[in-house]
Amino acid sequence: MIAAIADHSDVPAGKLRQASELLDQTPLLPDSLWQLCRWTASYYQHGLGDTLSSALPVLLRQGEPAMARQQMLWQLMPGAYPAHPAVSRAPKQKQALQTLAMHPHGLSHALISQWGLTRDVLEALERKGLVRRISQSPHHVHEPRPLHREPALQANPEQQAALDRITAAEGFNCWLLEGVTGSGKTEVYLQAIAHCLERQRQALVLIPEIGLTPQTMERFRRRFNVPVVILHSGLNDRERLDAWIAARDGEAAIVVGTRSAIFTPLARPGLIIVDEEHDLSYKQQEGLRYNARDLAVYRASLEQTGVILGSATPSFESLYNVQRNRYQLLRLTQRAGNARPPRFQALDIRSRPLEGGMSRPLIKLMGDHLQQGNQVLVFINRRGFAPTLMCHDCGWMAECRRCDARMTLHQSPPQLNCHHCGSQRPVERCCPKCQSEELRPIGAGTERTEEQLIASFPDFPVLRIDRDTMGRKRAMQDMLERIHSGEPCLLVGTQMLAKGHHFPDVTLVAILDADGGLFSADFRGPERMAQQVIQVAGRAGRADKPGQVIIQTHMAEHPLLLDLVEHDYSRFASRELAARQAAGLPPYSFMALLRAEANAVTQTDEFLDNACDIAEQLLATHRISGVELLGPVPSPMERRAGRYRAQLLVLGRQRSSLHQLLHLLLVALEQQPQARRVRWSIDVDPMDM
Ligand code: ADP
Ligand code: ZN
Ligand code: ZN
Repeated sequence: MIAAIADHSDVPAGKLRQASELLDQTPLLPDSLWQLCRWTASYYQHGLGDTLSSALPVLLRQGEPAMARQQMLWQLMPGAYPAHPAVSRAPKQKQALQTLAMHPHGLSHALISQWGLTRDVLEALERKGLVRRISQSPHHVHEPRPLHREPALQANPEQQAALDRITAAEGFNCWLLEGVTGSGKTEVYLQAIAHCLERQRQALVLIPEIGLTPQTMERFRRRFNVPVVILHSGLNDRERLDAWIAARDGEAAIVVGTRSAIFTPLARPGLIIVDEEHDLSYKQQEGLRYNARDLAVYRASLEQTGVILGSATPSFESLYNVQRNRYQLLRLTQRAGNARPPRFQALDIRSRPLEGGMSRPLIKLMGDHLQQGNQVLVFINRRGFAPTLMCHDCGWMAECRRCDARMTLHQSPPQLNCHHCGSQRPVERCCPKCQSEELRPIGAGTERTEEQLIASFPDFPVLRIDRDTMGRKRAMQDMLERIHSGEPCLLVGTQMLAKGHHFPDVTLVAILDADGGLFSADFRGPERMAQQVIQVAGRAGRADKPGQVIIQTHMAEHPLLLDLVEHDYSRFASRELAARQAAGLPPYSFMALLRAEANAVTQTDEFLDNACDIAEQLLATHRISGVELLGPVPSPMERRAGRYRAQLLVLGRQRSSLHQLLHLLLVALEQQPQARRVRWSIDVDPMDM
């Protein structure tokens, strides 16, 4: 890839290579995207070459020229629609005619697969004389008339206030749209997009992995008479490149996609939307460990456009940026449709017998809701919060004797580790406070939940929603149909449940284990827990069937839990943000994690101890202040696939000094002989500790 042209180089002549062919006649990327990639590489301490590889469609990396295959359009012949008799018994052809009718200027070859059409169908219609091919220049841009296919909803006052702010703004602006679930954030996005399209600009919409449901896509397609491309996992390499080109050349007016779509170039950028901005799937967890939400904000500043971050439970980073006046807060506090918000209640389970992770009062309550003909949703947390040890009888928890942190429980060999100071001790046999022997890792025992539900409620179906069922489209559709039929049943699931869907007949939501999040060794545990609780609770209820949310806990009087149960997410967030500030944790400081993985624990130790020494020397010789090194410690999941994993935490009061150290450290580590025996990486702004 040619990044720049120079007439002199410090690299020895023998190491320079000849360019053998020029693949593209014009630059591949607009300048803003090129700058975004360079910034990404430097910010995440990642090689530029690999960053560009991650950012570009596979076919481009393999040398395919970045040109649309053919600028050929399919167009309807006059009079072919509605419903020509020649296609009355060919539903695919009928659908094709219908789709083309919505695109009077013609639909490009690049976009037909986006509408579920194939070339065969169009060729069959061509033979019947119902459609024709026309050709046009690649950069032709249509002015859609009228813009709307379906009218916008009448915005309510809160939505209108948000829209007024968004549409009045010029240049770069970042808005945090904090709206309770069902408050009509999507409607705000759609009307903001309309404003962007009216100014002949393109909109880029990022959605979390699992939110990529047909419903979401349909809402964008149904509303506007413009080409929409959706970058979903079902596209093959060629379709992906076509969509990329359609976006870059300005043919696609709206681009919707998951994390990696942030690298899609736009000819006329106008607006970026990041839906569910708190979602962890925006952070890539391997290779180039970027956060697409953060890149969206940086990209909008490069392209001088607006960016809307939307969520019912904003990330603490975004709330902090509102505090610092970097982002502008827009709030939607009421549900837009007719659903009413659920009631929350904490259920103390200290010393209560648990069956499959559920207490008797909870099981009884489930029975009541089912008997009344309603549905029950059971949320199991599998988010691998770093486990800690807790007394089931009194709620005592294993804490570090040297610092103000919870110990993390490691299974083999059994021991407790402090992730802050690195101290270790054996696992207690009984509770130091009440002498009970009921010491348990938090979160244990929920594996049996489904079995227990089947045993307790033999007359009601138990439907499981997790990554497996969500992955199979047909299975998921069937399950959703059953749920929406309203028959009384129990839904069991993990965080998949917390996203996207609405279950109007669910009247009871049970959260089995909030403690795992509240008392995680990971400082983000409470934030994640609250987000999940609110998101899951938001799936339930409607006007005539308001929901009830039960949170099982050993700490019913914990102030954070009370904030959540008796107040709302904002109240919870302000308390927890104050705690983060007092402890000097992100977002009030900046973090990076040096991770290492090897076949033997001695290798990771040796590498990280050495890295720690080098980092200390670098801090001293370069007079970098305000950077702390914590650890090394074993990773929360110390052994994975037979390999040992450990980490060194680097905490900086200023981003600039943290980055200065990371840059020097990276260069130094690459020279180290141990660096070749372990797999290691630097994770900037890590999300999983
Ligand atoms: P969110 O994205 O905040 O969860 P949605 O945009 O999905 O909320 O809106 C929730 C429901 O409320 C949807 O059924 C939507 O059609 C409806 N809705 C949103 N805005 C309005 C409005 N202004 N008037 C009437 N119904 C609305
Ligand atoms: Zn105890
Ligand atoms: Zn400690």
